[in-house]
Amino acid sequence: MSPEENLLAAVEQGVKIYGFSSHCPVPFENKWSINREKLPDYLEEIEELKKKFAEQIEVYKSMEIDYIPGIISPVSDIIQQSKLDYTLGSVHFANQFDDGRYWEIDSTTPKFKLGVEEIYKGDVQKAVVDYYERIRMMVREARPDIVGHLDKIKIHNSNEYFFDEEDSWYKNEVNKTLEEIKSAGSIIEVNTRGMYKKLVEEPYPGKSILREIKEMNIPICLNSDSHQPDDITKKFPETAELLYSIGFQKMRILHQGEWVDMEFDKNGLKI
Ligand SMILES: [Zn+2]
Repeated sequence: MSPEENLLAAVEQGVKIYGFSSHCPVPFENKWSINREKLPDYLEEIEELKKKFAEQIEVYKSMEIDYIPGIISPVSDIIQQSKLDYTLGSVHFANQFDDGRYWEIDSTTPKFKLGVEEIYKGDVQKAVVDYYERIRMMVREARPDIVGHLDKIKIHNSNEYFFDEEDSWYKNEVNKTLEEIKSAGSIIEVNTRGMYKKLVEEPYPGKSILREIKEMNIPICLNSDSHQPDDITKKFPETAELLYSIGFQKMRILHQGEWVDMEFDKNGLKI
């Protein structure tokens, strides 16, 4: 679907502020990232849509930027030159196989297992620690405005048991990561994609992490991580209610070019 079709659907669904965040180019082949040669067209298209839809919806230009040390990060030249309105930084690749292939943490469970076996000799804890360490490195080095789908590595626990999210080592990794995010001043994305894809029952991050986030007073925003028009606001009402029940009353939102803390309820932002 084209960006314009997505935007039309967003307007239809009552969205007032919309950020485009396609996957940024990476220097190896994959199915979902913007092709490097097509990046200027993407950026230009969003700028045109901003003007075209100015009366109906606020539009912002961004990308979901991978963090791979020395390869790509929210502060890479290609990102800086893109003059994004905000940066969304996510870790999808926590390590590499011996032959140099990147190991993706949120691909299929068999592929996840293959990485755990080959790179970590079956030690899941080490793999998870590396994932969170990479998020911390990203936050320290690049301070993205928003940190994407924080605990996405839990996705495979729905298919089979890999680790216990209540274990103290895991909570410790998460908490260390929250501390870094807090001191960097980044916003944590609450992402509903796993819920409407029926992969997990909670958003990324889940309830117990959200309670910590609230306790630490770290700002949040809500995002569906949609890849098609039908998904733009999926699971927003129930997630907004969940957030409210945890004590969140505001989200940090880019509005008229400024980050502001805006009230929300299950019907959306109180704009
Ligand atoms: Zn992602």
